[in-house]
Amino acid sequence: MGDTKEVRKDLLKLQEELRREKSRLEMLRSTPLCKDDLAQDACTQNVAVQAVKNKTEMLQKIAATIGRIDNGTFGICTRCHEDIAPRRLEFVPYEAFCFSCQQRQESKGRDSAQSIPAGLTQPAFW
Ligand SMILES: [Zn+2]
Repeated sequence: MGDTKEVRKDLLKLQEELRREKSRLEMLRSTPLCKDDLAQDACTQNVAVQAVKNKTEMLQKIAATIGRIDNGTFGICTRCHEDIAPRRLEFVPYEAFCFSCQQRQESKGRDSAQSIPAGLTQPAFW
């Protein structure tokens, strides 16, 4: 894993941008811009609330990723511990799951009892 320093730098930059963006949105959120137009439910305020939530989630992901860079586990799926495809990391460096775990994550909802489906865990290590 050669370029983690670069990735880390990019993440820190992104983190800073997101923080700035977030505080701007938070200001927007606390300003009741659509008081006089109650029919308009997609008003700026609601959009800002959602956006703040998104930024917060992204910031958490980024912080976790920087932590993984620091302890040397960057690029490894946090769920199945397989390598995450480099192209995927290039695209979203703060991704914590490999492609198949991501898909599983997105389609989950009924498999809560058993968080890691059979067939996914065994190979490589044993
Ligand atoms: Zn995985």
